[in-house]
Amino acid sequence: MASKNDILKFIEQNDVKFVRLQFTDILGRLKNIAITERQVERALEEGIIFDASAIAGFSEVESSDMLLLPDINTFTIIPWRPQHGKVARFICDIKNYDGTQFIGDPRYVLKKSVEKAEKLGYTFNVGPECEFFLFHTDSEGRPTAKTHDYASYCDLAPMDLGENCRREICMVLEEMGFEIEALHHENAAGQHEIDFKYSDVLTAADRIMTFRMVVKTIAQRNGLHATFMPKPIFNAFGSGMHINMSLSKEGKNLFNAGNGSMDISDVAKMFGAGILNHINGITAVANPLVNSYKRFVPGFEAPVHIAWSHMNRSPLLRVPAPKGEATRLELRSPDSSCNPYLTLALVLEAGLDGLQKEMQIPLPVDINTYSLTAEKEKELGIQRLPSNLLLAIEEMKKDPYIKEVLGEHIYSKYIAAKEAEWAAYNNYVHQWEIDNYLTAF
Ligand code: GLN
Ligand code: MG
Ligand code: MG
Ligand code: MG
Repeated sequence: MASKNDILKFIEQNDVKFVRLQFTDILGRLKNIAITERQVERALEEGIIFDASAIAGFSEVESSDMLLLPDINTFTIIPWRPQHGKVARFICDIKNYDGTQFIGDPRYVLKKSVEKAEKLGYTFNVGPECEFFLFHTDSEGRPTAKTHDYASYCDLAPMDLGENCRREICMVLEEMGFEIEALHHENAAGQHEIDFKYSDVLTAADRIMTFRMVVKTIAQRNGLHATFMPKPIFNAFGSGMHINMSLSKEGKNLFNAGNGSMDISDVAKMFGAGILNHINGITAVANPLVNSYKRFVPGFEAPVHIAWSHMNRSPLLRVPAPKGEATRLELRSPDSSCNPYLTLALVLEAGLDGLQKEMQIPLPVDINTYSLTAEKEKELGIQRLPSNLLLAIEEMKKDPYIKEVLGEHIYSKYIAAKEAEWAAYNNYVHQWEIDNYLTAF
């Protein structure tokens, strides 16, 4: 861990001119304010004042002055900016002007959940798999609806046209301290995936935000538009953000059933049960857009049902093949438009709730759930995930634990923002309605 002095020395010796102070709004968008190198010492000691009234879900105009406090563990050079007069960044915590904690900071919500887990001796490890699309831009550099290529899963050049862009993204991420594990073309035309190594959950959430920034920036430098929109193309695969997770105590993976077993431990089962139990209420946060729900349709490797399985890729929660110390659960519903701090806090606390209440996981569903009829669902007692944002918000309101984890401030601002988003969408007259009704009626 670096000290303040190490950082100040590094800035002086490495020709760093600007430092960006980054943070995430409640809707999951990265924001930043740049300061010059001369202000860094003050920033580290007192924080830098900013106007929080224009940040989604943060504050009201009456109490808008807040402070950004850099987390020194997140310091990194931004590799694509000039090398003379370099640019660095910190991810920041947000305080009220009087120095007290601002409870509307999503990173604080996750830190609180991490503290809760730590008190029990647990470390929550998370390895995300972020999928995204590359689209062409037009002559003015604006995104078009044309995918960059027509390749499919694991294809290579000349069908795959994304290799240079993916390569550059990975090199930049490595320079920023990521360990990249795999990269490949995904199922849909223009769709890609880059996986980085798991870490403790706070680091993982910070990295997800950094990852999105890097992917979008490097795509733009390649004349392309990268999007994490969950379902940009009708009738094609959408983009998910699978979350591989495990819980460790004293360096040992508690999900490991031991003795070479192909099963998962009772701890993993209770943790998974907690997630299955709360997933309805979590969904409005893990799948925050109107568009997120267009991904939850059968046939595209995205979940539709609240079920778990070994291997089978149709349910919500899967047990990937690696066992022993690599044993993990993979939550397949979240998408990359979510706020990772809020989503991961909810997932962690749902798991902890499962442990605390010793929840029983239902029987695994090892059939392809996409083929389930309504009768069969009823017979097996398998529920579906909320099928649109409005239903997801209603589920969020029904589960009191969501408000407890998010805190009243974020909970109410988030619901208000999402209800307004749903209303805007719902009142709009869409092309589909014109196509289907204009001449038929
Ligand atoms: N793109 C799929 C989804 O929407 C996942 C595909 C995969 O990684 N197997 O979640
Ligand atoms: Mg993958
Ligand atoms: Mg994938
Ligand atoms: Mg996966």
